[in-house]
Amino acid sequence: MSHTCKSLVIHCMDFRLVDQIRDWMTKEKLMKDADVVSLAGAAKNLVDGNEEAKNVLLKQIEISSSLHNCLKVYLVHHSTCGAYAVSYNFASLEEEKKKQSEDLDKAVEVIKEKFPNLEVSKIWVEMKDGEGKEVEIIEL
Ligand SMILES: [Zn+2]
Repeated sequence: MSHTCKSLVIHCMDFRLVDQIRDWMTKEKLMKDADVVSLAGAAKNLVDGNEEAKNVLLKQIEISSSLHNCLKVYLVHHSTCGAYAVSYNFASLEEEKKKQSEDLDKAVEVIKEKFPNLEVSKIWVEMKDGEGKEVEIIEL
């Protein structure tokens, strides 16, 4: 019996967003139809120069694609991300969003180069409070 799913969701491991991302996945009809990778910084791992981290994430994409025939990858990033705070000292939310958007664009290129048939969607979760109780989720 074959088992396939339409999508792969790659999101940051941040515990503050677990409920919000689950709600968003439900709304997008991704629950039970998507593989899920939870990794600090999400797609940052594809573009920040750490080859080991990059290969770990590419391997997950390859498995989702070859084993479950996923067709679309969602890269889910968020504001006040600890994985970015380690590397950068952003003066504002806009500055952080700009840097993460650039990284997401680069990550799409990295994925497309290796998996040209995969559709890639960039998702931004903006936290409206420190705990992630209220968020705005948009596609970039
Ligand atoms: Zn994060």
